[in-house]
Amino acid sequence: MSVTISSELLGRLLAEAAASPDVEICGLLFGAAGSIEAAEAYANVAANPARTFEIDPKALFAAHRRARGGGLAVIGHYHSHPSGSPIPSPRDAAQAMGDGAVWIILGGGMASAWRSVEVGAFVEEAIDPIG
Ligand SMILES: [Zn+2]
Repeated sequence: MSVTISSELLGRLLAEAAASPDVEICGLLFGAAGSIEAAEAYANVAANPARTFEIDPKALFAAHRRARGGGLAVIGHYHSHPSGSPIPSPRDAAQAMGDGAVWIILGGGMASAWRSVEVGAFVEEAIDPIG
């Protein structure tokens, strides 16, 4: 399987990651299954944001409420690995809920896409840039 994203949006996420060399950036992905149509950056409120990420719970709640109110669906999230490759870390795997969420991971100037298909595990998805 693959996920589609506009080249412009993918470039924006890569630029956000490159601009944060010390702290993991994070945000939500909106759209429909397999199609990322928008992304919003949120504060990383993790206790150790250099090593992990946690999206501000208030922002997360507001985004889901907007989606229920007819907005674009929340289909996943993105975060960066400032010092590493765009591969899920053991910490990431521990947060994989098996809910089908799309994970975009940015690192080393690259992006990768993953889907959480079972608790604790991901399958990699091809990124299909469009436009
Ligand atoms: Zn990670």
